[in-house]
This record gives sequence, structure tokens and C-alpha cells, in this order.
Amino acid sequence: MLTKAREVLKKYYGYDEFRPGQAKVIGSLLGGKDTVAIMPTGAGKSLCFQIPAMLMPGVTLVISPLISLMKDQVDALTEQGIPATFINSSLSGSEVGRRLQQMRAGRYKLVYVAPERLTADWFQAVAGELTISMLAVDEAHCVSQWGHDFRPSYRNVGAFIAGLNARPVIGAFTATATPEVKNDIENLLNLRWPQVHITGFDRPNLSFSVLRGENKQQFVLQYCKANAGQAGIIYAATRKEVDNLYELLKKKGFAAGRYHAGLSDEERMSQQEQFLYDDIRVMVATNAFGMGIDKSNVRYVVHYNMPKNMESYYQEAGRSGRDGAPGECTLLFGPQDPLLQRFLIDKSVEHPERKQHELKKLQEMVDYCHTPDCLRHYILNYFGEPTTGEGCGHCGNCTADGEQVDITVDAQKVFSCIYRMKERFGISVIADVLKGSKNKKVQQLGFDKLPTYGLMAGRTVPDIKTLVQRLVATGYLRLTESEYPVVKLETEAYLVLRSEARVWQKVFTERQPVQDDSLFELLRQCRKRISEREGVPPFVVFADTTLKEMSQQRPTDFDALRQIKGIGELKLHKYGDEFLQVITVYLAEYGVSAEKSELTVSAVPAKKAAAKKKNSKAETEPSHQVTLTMYRDGSSLADIAKHRELSGQTVLNHLVRCDQEGLVVDWDRLIPAQYEKLIITKINEVGAGQLKPIKEVLPDAVSYAAIKAVLCKHFSAAGKA
Ligand code: ADP
Ligand code: MG
Ligand code: ZN
Repeated sequence: MLTKAREVLKKYYGYDEFRPGQAKVIGSLLGGKDTVAIMPTGAGKSLCFQIPAMLMPGVTLVISPLISLMKDQVDALTEQGIPATFINSSLSGSEVGRRLQQMRAGRYKLVYVAPERLTADWFQAVAGELTISMLAVDEAHCVSQWGHDFRPSYRNVGAFIAGLNARPVIGAFTATATPEVKNDIENLLNLRWPQVHITGFDRPNLSFSVLRGENKQQFVLQYCKANAGQAGIIYAATRKEVDNLYELLKKKGFAAGRYHAGLSDEERMSQQEQFLYDDIRVMVATNAFGMGIDKSNVRYVVHYNMPKNMESYYQEAGRSGRDGAPGECTLLFGPQDPLLQRFLIDKSVEHPERKQHELKKLQEMVDYCHTPDCLRHYILNYFGEPTTGEGCGHCGNCTADGEQVDITVDAQKVFSCIYRMKERFGISVIADVLKGSKNKKVQQLGFDKLPTYGLMAGRTVPDIKTLVQRLVATGYLRLTESEYPVVKLETEAYLVLRSEARVWQKVFTERQPVQDDSLFELLRQCRKRISEREGVPPFVVFADTTLKEMSQQRPTDFDALRQIKGIGELKLHKYGDEFLQVITVYLAEYGVSAEKSELTVSAVPAKKAAAKKKNSKAETEPSHQVTLTMYRDGSSLADIAKHRELSGQTVLNHLVRCDQEGLVVDWDRLIPAQYEKLIITKINEVGAGQLKPIKEVLPDAVSYAAIKAVLCKHFSAAGKA
């Protein structure tokens, strides 16, 4: 049997070897056994039902959730010479009729069907006449409400099977391995003594990292620049975020596309197509993009926001490196991410038990973002696969500078504090107590009388919060799945409290702290909302400098807000509440409240020091960056040259240098749009080595600066020469 299967593999697919797990699953199905195949995204599940379909008599029905993906799969099969078709709501009545006719005539080995069609009388009538050897349920986790992609129409499958004259072999395929989902698949699809095959979840060619506190936009621009020649996907949480990022990348000259459910069918189709053909290099998308997309050369997946659970994350990240070559998976974690996901769960899930379940999964996702341990091991353990040894050696955490440190004493302080607070509070309050914060809540609750109050006075609140979050991520503590998660002690923590166990954790040598602009960004969004509502430009509401100061001082009441430059009484009363709201929500998540009280005590000196620092920074800022700042502010090259008493040539070289260093330069301002294509053509003809020969074959109106700009924008490697 398997020899035949191997022949088909070679003949129709052109592959020499089965991948791990494939042969077993194929063997099991060919042996007539109901089979559940749990294999990670990209492992090659399709082939596991397609090959048996070719070898069995009659036809195989494939249940598949997405209409867009059916056509692709069927096209691919047809291309390989495998007779296949699909039936779904995208077809006209007459076309469906034609295909049913062909089915009756035995012209197809595989027929893809949307689950909604199964209950239609006409479909059941035709199904009754056919020899259906196998029913393959792809993305079978959709049947389970515990999965990450529940589709009620999948519940039709069980009834459909029961209604058939002869029961076909059932194969169920998914990348989700949690026990609840597996049980649902077995029960709701009425499988009979199924063989369950779980393939290792490791994808050794993928590398994982989590970055926190990054300026996300800046990161993406630099990252896309560094990977300009590669195909990649950037996942963002909302349509709006996708649109913004897409516009930004387009503006900077990247071959970017976008995909989300708010676009028309045609536009989505066309974007997807262009991505498949590499006309679009980087696809910015919501999670609506990708299910079943079989583009094998995706080299990176960046998550601009944290997804709602590990299943989604691994599935999306797993779309890189399907060809077995390296894939880079980067998650940009921001403090707003858990809030947004929590909000989305609140909004979309009604059933309380299910909501709690989703919140638990969300917490496990957050833990991934905070764990100091090996990220790959975390993923594998999450999917129920045991791991051995310290770590994989090449994920972000394994490669980060740092060493295993005994943090038992710190951990004991945290555990003891939680214990004394009777395990009834969230991370922020715990951090406030350990810090010795004077905030109202702490005092009202009498926590300033606890012996653990102020035990970590020397550390910052965010630092303490990170410590607590890591202890959650490593299983010493647990957060409840309630609306306001409360921290509980796990058995391990009691052992540590009784000095029966020690806690070792990798402590990272922190990178240069990146300027955290996230509050500033939120304040700007708030300003934008107001400006749209009031019909005035944003700077009329508040100047940037006012927002900047607000983001540094973080006022939480009117008195403090009044101190900020640029806020008069009128605006204070008109807009004050809205901005305070933003700051309060931010502080609640980031837990920096205690910082403020310190700041007010020593407000003046701190401010002065900050001002001094700023000046000295301006003095030492490298010359080429000063040029860039002026250029960004709208000055022309000539203006900058004049003002700085430099030659035009030097100023231009400054910008080139900035570009090489990964800073974003808007080259379009120097390129006359009507000549851009021509310049590119000529560079391709003449070569990018020297400017003069290029200049000679172009109209006089095209300046050296324009040529250089085109080189930097389109030929970044050459531009560096
Ligand atoms: P899954 O459904 O498990 O996410 P697919 O079935 O879409 O994965 O397969 C992913 C990719 O792997 C496809 O490009 C497929 O052609 C390729 N592939 C599958 N099996 C093999 C094999 N034995 N050898 C080489 N490539 C394979
Ligand atoms: Mg698949
Ligand atoms: Zn690792």
C-alpha cells in the first residue's frame, strides 16, 4: 500500500520522501481506520488525505472552512493532474449542476465542500448515489467551541455521515492538540475507534523572539528595510491598525499589501494573488489572512500585536518557513495588547464558561511574552510535548545576553507579600505594596502596615511587575480568569516560601532602554479623536510638546494636569477628563503609578536634570542626524546646506548615511515622480556603480540628488556602495 502511496508522491507531487507522520496517517486511512491527524501548520496535512483519495475507489469529500482556499487547493491539484473540484456558495446554480453531473460520472477523485452545503437536499441526494470512500475533515478543530476557530456549520458533519448509505472512512486534520478539542473532534464527528497521530510540533527551522517596549512602527520600518527582498507577513490586531501600517509602508516605498475582512472580495483576492506571486513582498494583515495559504517561501512573520492565544500565534507564525528554510518569527509585545484582546473576548464571547476558557488561553499567551525561559520549549510544552535540557539555544531568550541567577530571595518577598494580601489582588497593587507606594488604595486597605510594604523600595514598579509576571509565566504564580485577574500562589511557591526549593531564572542584561513612546502615542490618538469631533487640527487641541510633557509627568488629576505647559483653564475643562482617562488606563496596565509620587517629591530637580540631559544630547547628536531632523521637519536640501554652512553634496551624503543606518528617509521628496521609472530603467541598463554614466543618459532635469535618492530607495544595496 505504502509503495503505491510513495509512487503517487513522486509522480504527482514530485517529492521523494514523506515528511514525519505522513506515511503513518496515509497508512492508517488506507487501512480503513478513522484517523485523527494532529500536525503543526505547514507539516503537510493536505497530502495525507489527497494521496489516499487517489488510491481509493470512488470519491473523497473534503470539508474545508474557507471558500477562498478551496479554489486555490483545487487549482493546485488540477495543475498536478489530480482530478478535483469544489462546491460552495461562490458558484452559480448552473455551475453547481454541471459539477454534480461530473461527480455522478465519476470524474473527480476529490471534491471540496463547504460544511454548509452538506445539509442541502440536493447535495444529499447526489451523495446518496456516489461511492464515497473517504470523508476528510480539514481544519477539524472548527467543530469544537474550545478551538480557536469555532464554526457552527461543522456540526453538520456528524449528521451527514450518519445519513449516508455506506459509511466512509473519516479523516480529521488539525494543528490544534488540546485535549478538549481532540475529544470534541472524536465525539462530534462520530469517529469510530479512531487512530490518533500526533506529529512533533517542533519546527526547527523557525526561530522565535519576543520584543517588549519597542517603538513598533520604527521597528517594522527598519525590519522591512533589512528584509526588503524577502516575503513576509505582518499581523496586526485590528483592521485600522492594518490600514495605518500599510499606508506607512507604502509611503516609504515598500512593496506592501494588505488584507482584512473590511476589504471587498476582489481586493482581497487580488492582494493575495500578488503576494503569492511576490509582487507584494510584505503583507500587512489581520488574522483573516492566511488560513490555508500555501506560500512556501515566507521568510518572516512579525506580530505587531500579541494574538489572543498560542494556537493562533503558532499557526500564524508557522506560515513562515514552510519550505524548510529558515523563518523568523517576532512578536512585538506592547502593554496595550492584553487589554485589547481582553476587550475583544468580552465583546465576542457570551457564554461565561467559554469566556473564562478564552481568558485562560489569553493568559497563557501573555505568559509566553513574559517567560525568561526558552520560547521554543514553552511552545512545545504548551502543545503537550515534553522537552529536555535548558533550551533550544537559538530563540530570542536562549540567545539573549544574561545568565541564570538565583532569585530565591526576591521570589520569597513577592510570594510572602501575596500571601499576606490574602491572594486577593492583581499585579498592580502587589507591585505598589512591594514598592511602598503611597497611593490611596494601598493606604485605605491598610497594606502600608504589612511587613512586606516597601520591601522592594529600591526597584521601579515596572521592574517589580516584570518580576511578578515572570513568576506567573514560570508557574509559581497563577492569575485567575476573572475580569480583574487576581494573583494566586501555586504549590511551587509555597515550597519556595518554606525554603524547600530555590528559584533560578535567566536575568537578561537589559538592552539600552528604548524610549517608551506608547503613552505619547495613546495621547495623540486621543487628541486625534477630539480634533475630528471638534473639526479643528490636532495641534489646535494641544501641541506635541504638551502631549510629550503629559506622557512624561503622567498627571492623574486636574491639579497635576494644570501644571503642564500649554494647558489653560478652558482646555483643562474642555478636554482634561478625556486625557486623564487615557493616562489612568495606561497606568493601570503599566503600573507606574508609584513612580509619580516620587516624581512630585523631587519634581523640580528631576525636571532640570532631564532638561540638561536633553540639551547635552542635542549637542552631541551626530551631524548627519541633525540633517535628517531638519529634512524631516520639511527643510529642503538647499535650506539645510545654507543653514548649516555645508555643501549640498555633504547634506545629501548625510541622508544616505542615515538611510544606511536604518533611519527612515523620505526619498520621494527628492525624486521627480514623472522620471522615477525612467531613472530605474537607466540604472538597470547602465549599472549602479557610478553616478556620472547614469546622469549622462537621463534628461538634464534629473539631478544627481534624484539619482542618488532612487538608488537608495530601490537599490538599497547599491545605494550603500
Ligand atoms: P498543512 O495543511 O499541514 O498546514 P500543507 O498541506 O498546506 O500543510 O503543506 C505545506 C507545504 O508542505 C506544501 O507546500 C506542501 O506541498 C509541502 N509538502 C507536504 N508534504 C511534503 C513532502 N513530503 N515533501 C516536501 N514537501 C511537502
Ligand atoms: Mg492545511
Ligand atoms: Zn530557546
